[in-house]
Amino acid sequence: MKTIILKINSQRIDLAKIKIAAEEIKRGNLVAFPTETVYGLGADALNEKAVAKIFKAKERPFNDPLIVHIADLKELYRLSKQVPPVALELAKMFWPGPLTLVLKKSELVSNIITADLDTVAIRMPDDNIALSLIREAKTPIVAPSANLFGRTSPTTAQHVAEDLNDKIEMIIDGGKTKVGVESTVLDITVSPAQVLRAGGISVEQLKKVIGEVKIGEELEMGFRSPGRLNSHYSPRAKLILVEEKGETQASKVLQIAFEYKGQGFKVGIMAKEENKDQYNGFKVKVIGKGNELKTCATNLFSILRSFDQEGFEIIIAEGLEEQGLGLAIMERLRKAAVPKYEC
Ligand code: AMP
Ligand code: MG
Repeated sequence: MKTIILKINSQRIDLAKIKIAAEEIKRGNLVAFPTETVYGLGADALNEKAVAKIFKAKERPFNDPLIVHIADLKELYRLSKQVPPVALELAKMFWPGPLTLVLKKSELVSNIITADLDTVAIRMPDDNIALSLIREAKTPIVAPSANLFGRTSPTTAQHVAEDLNDKIEMIIDGGKTKVGVESTVLDITVSPAQVLRAGGISVEQLKKVIGEVKIGEELEMGFRSPGRLNSHYSPRAKLILVEEKGETQASKVLQIAFEYKGQGFKVGIMAKEENKDQYNGFKVKVIGKGNELKTCATNLFSILRSFDQEGFEIIIAEGLEEQGLGLAIMERLRKAAVPKYEC
C-alpha cells in the first residue's frame, strides 16, 4: 500500500484533514499521528482486526500490551470497571499529558490490547492533533510508538516513514514532538502505586500528588509490564553508555572512542553541551545542557536516529543525572545500549 502523508499545523488545526484521518481509523486502518511524547501508530481500540494490524506493522509481539488514548475523561468509566479516586486526582493534575494509568479493565477492552492481562493502560495525550483525531473518530485509539518493535521511537513524521512507509495507510505530519520520551506508566491497581516505566511525568511530580510510589529496582516485576524488556529503543549502531559522572566521564568516553576508531569503526559521540569541545576529531551531537533535561529528552531519539542515517557504527553516549526527566532518559539509554561494551 502507498502511505499517504497528511501535513497538519498543530497550532491551526485543519478539521477537514483531521476528518480524513478519522475516516481511516473508522474504516479499521492505521494512522500514525503526533502526540506530545512521540509519534503513535493509531487504530480503533474497539475494532480487534484494526488492533491486530498494529502488531503486524510494527512486528510487535502480542505479549506487549498497548496504551488506549482518550480525549474525554468519561471514557475512563467505559474502559475501566474500577476507577479509584486516585485516578481522578492524577488525571486532574496531569491530563492531558504524558502519564499513563493502569486500571482494572472493563469488558469493552479486548484481550489483544492488554496481552490477556486484566488491566488496561489509558492516557489522554496533550496534543491538539491527537485529541482532535480521537474526537473525530469518536472512539478511543490504541497507539504504541510508531516504530518497528525494539527500535528507536519516532519524534518526527520522517522517522515514522523510515520504519513504516508503505506498511500503514496514513501518517499525519504535525512537526517535531515536544516531550520526546514516552509517557510514564503508573500502575494504580496496587498500593502504593508503581511506576512501570519512567517517562514524561517525573517520579518527583507524582510523589507530590500521591505521596509514596514504588519504582524501578524496588519492584518485583515478573512480566507485569513487558515494556520493561531489557533491550528496547535500539539504534542500528552499537550504543555504548558511559555512566561515569563528573570529570572522569569525558576521559572514559574518549578512551572508548579511540579504541573503536583504532579498529576502523565510524564513531559518533552524544555529549552534553558542556563537554562537547573535549572530543576533537570525533563527530559530536549535543543532547543539551546536563541541567536542561527537557531539552535533552526532546533531542534523545532524533540524535540516535540521525547517527544511524549517517552510517555511524558506534555511538558513545554520555550518561545524565537521574533526576526528573533524567530518569526516563537513562532508562531508555540503558535499554538501547549494549549490556557491556567490549573494547
Ligand atoms: P508503547 O505503547 O510502545 O509506548 O508501550 C506501551 C507500554 O505500556 C507496554 O510496553 C507496557 O510496558 C505498558 N503497558 C500497557 N498496558 C499495560 C498493562 N495493562 N499493564 C502494565 N503495563 C502496561
Ligand atoms: Mg514503543
